[in-house]
Amino acid sequence: MKKRNRIIVNTAHSLGMGKILDRVRFRKEPEKPKRVFIEVTNACNLKCKMCDRKNLTRKIGFMDMGMFKSIVEDEFIKGIPNIRLNDFGEPLLHPDLVEMTTYLKTRGYQKIGFATNGLLLNREKSEGFINGGLDYIIFSVEGTTQQTYEAIRIGGKFEKIRENIKLFHKLREESGGKKPEILMNSLLMTDTKDEVNELEGFWGPYVDNIKVIPCSIYGEIDAASHKDVRAAYPHSCKQLWENMAILWNGEVSTCCIDLNGSLKIGDINNGSISTTWNSALQQKYREIHLTHQFHNLKACKNCDGIWV
Ligand code: SF4
Repeated sequence: MKKRNRIIVNTAHSLGMGKILDRVRFRKEPEKPKRVFIEVTNACNLKCKMCDRKNLTRKIGFMDMGMFKSIVEDEFIKGIPNIRLNDFGEPLLHPDLVEMTTYLKTRGYQKIGFATNGLLLNREKSEGFINGGLDYIIFSVEGTTQQTYEAIRIGGKFEKIRENIKLFHKLREESGGKKPEILMNSLLMTDTKDEVNELEGFWGPYVDNIKVIPCSIYGEIDAASHKDVRAAYPHSCKQLWENMAILWNGEVSTCCIDLNGSLKIGDINNGSISTTWNSALQQKYREIHLTHQFHNLKACKNCDGIWV
C-alpha cells in the first residue's frame, strides 16, 4: 500500500504538481515533532563500508547526564511519542546508556529505543535494558554469513553479533515480556543482495521484524546517481515537519541524517528546546523545501534519503 502511495505522489510530481502537493501535505506548522533523536554520542566503534562518517567534521563527544536529564525534563519533549537515543554514532559506547533509558521510563515516556550495531552488548547491559523498560532496539546488521557481514561492517565480528542478538532474545523471553521489541534493519546493497532472501530464515528466530532498506540512503551510490534520484523525487522532505535531532553538544538539527549539523535550527545551550522547533531557521529550511530549492541546502542537495 505504501508503495502505491509513493508512486501516485511521484507521478503527480513528474506532472509538475510537486510544489502544490507539498503545500497541501505540509500546510500546518506542527506543534511538536513526532520523533526526537537524542545523539548520546557521535563516536563509533566501526568503520562500515557505506557509512558517511569519513566526512564527519563535527567534534566527537558524549552527551553528559546533566544535559540529558534537562532534555528529558523539558515540557516540550514530554509527550513526544517516540524518543530515539541515537543519531550519528554507536549509542552503546555511552557508559550511561542503560541509566538513560531507565530514566526516560521512570519519567513516563511511552516509546523509547535506539538503533545499534549491537557489538558492545553484553548480559549485564541487555538485562539493564530489558528490566529498565526499553521499548525497542534496532539491530543494524547485513548478511547471513561472516564473509558478507565483516566485509561491510568493518571492525565487526559476525559471531559476536550473532551471539549478542541470540542472548538478548533469550533474556527477553525469559523475562516473560514482549518488550523490548527486537527489530533489525538490513541494508540492501551490492554486497548483500544475494543474502537478502536468507535473512528471515537466519535471523527470524531471534528478532520480531526485519526491514530491508536500500543502501542508497546511506551513500553507496555515486554523486551522479544522487542527482538522478533528487530529480526523480522533487518533493519536500518530511523530516523538517516531523523530526528533531538533539546532538550530543546541545545543538539541534531538523534532520536525523544531517551528518555535520548543517541543518541546525537551534542550540539548547542558548535557548529552550521549544524555540528551536518552528524557529526562524526551521521556517527558512521548510520554505526552501516547499519551493524545491534543495540545491541551497548543503545537506539536502545531494541527499536521496528524502523522507516521503
Ligand atoms: S533531504 Fe535529506 S538531508 Fe535534507 S532534511 Fe531530508 S533527509 Fe535530511
